[in-house]
Amino acid sequence: MFHKVRRLVAVYFGGSLKTFFPISQPSIGERELEYVTKAVRSGWVSSIGEYIEAFENSFADFCGAQFALAVSNGTAGLHLALASLGISANDEVIIPDLTFVATANAIAYTGARVVPVDIDRQTLCIDATAAEAAVTSKTRAILPVHLYGQAAAMDALRTIARQRKLFLVEDAAEAHGAEYKGTRVGAIGDCGVFSFYGNKVITTGEGGMITTNNRDLYNKAKLLRDHAMSPVKRYWHTQVGFNYRMTNLQAALGFAQMERIDEFLEKRRKIMAWYRNELESIPRLRLNYEEPGTRNVYWMICVEISGIGELTRDKLMSRLRDQGVDSRPYFYPISDLPMYARANTPVAHEVSRCGLNLPSYTDLSESDVRQICAVTKDVISQLGV
Ligand SMILES: *Cc1c(COP(=O)(O)O)cnc(C)c1O
Repeated sequence: MFHKVRRLVAVYFGGSLKTFFPISQPSIGERELEYVTKAVRSGWVSSIGEYIEAFENSFADFCGAQFALAVSNGTAGLHLALASLGISANDEVIIPDLTFVATANAIAYTGARVVPVDIDRQTLCIDATAAEAAVTSKTRAILPVHLYGQAAAMDALRTIARQRKLFLVEDAAEAHGAEYKGTRVGAIGDCGVFSFYGNKVITTGEGGMITTNNRDLYNKAKLLRDHAMSPVKRYWHTQVGFNYRMTNLQAALGFAQMERIDEFLEKRRKIMAWYRNELESIPRLRLNYEEPGTRNVYWMICVEISGIGELTRDKLMSRLRDQGVDSRPYFYPISDLPMYARANTPVAHEVSRCGLNLPSYTDLSESDVRQICAVTKDVISQLGV
């Protein structure tokens, strides 16, 4: 099976061959092959076909949302959601400073201004107080990100959004199945957006989904997804829409992954527990946090070593790589990127410098995690951090 092949990639290090642990890899089984083959054989290879609605329906059910709309990728989904809400130039949208660049880019595509604010030190998600302080007369929406699988403080955000008449758009690209007080993300704000990129909780290769309980928003997004073509008059368009459709091939893969998503989520909790067992006792080291009343899906194993700077963190990562363990640095604050406005966000900056992700994928075994952690402990003690 091809998903096992990469596991056999070995690195030659110190005179011995070692397994290389990638940061992430998809888990593709027989059912995925079966459905994708069926889709290819059916001839419905573009964005008409039985798997698209099947995937949308199963994803809506999974989230507890009324509607789900499959799109070509998560970034397109964010843009489509914002465009469908009517967000445009002269508007402002508030985001957490620590996130993947797609969150900010999707806002920039609409012409609206990106307003990054600081994060909460525990959840690493948007600080609701900071979000409230950043609201101006131009603010149209708050866009929290459920970072690394941990749900943001949705109660506080919902209150602010209601009081200030703002939209609440959840970037749930990293948090399929995460819960906030018993409700799944994607069904809490005005809408949620998910990604099915190859390293996400489930994958369609490239792909995304908008979830919502708002029928008008769903209809608007559905129209704009397909060039805003009139549903009753073919090739008649009254506004500039997009081609953000998902293909039947992608949906076939996604539909098969939905059959296994509960199993994936259960396994992710196990993997997190194995990592905790091995690494928790290291002084100054912090692993993923799970806010009481929420369910974290642990999209990435998060390691922060308090007090270390970017240079030491990067040295740690390169030594890990030398010993066969792939890792990723935390995101850079959006406000440090040249396209976006500077912001005073000390927490996001501090966290960004001292954080890294370790291999996080559902096919890891307990002995894999033990090996990865042995290397990690070794490297940490070598560097004396
Ligand atoms: C992956 C990701 C996206 C974008 O999803 P794509 O499908 O890669 O376009 C958006 N936001 C966050 C937080 C992500 O991690």
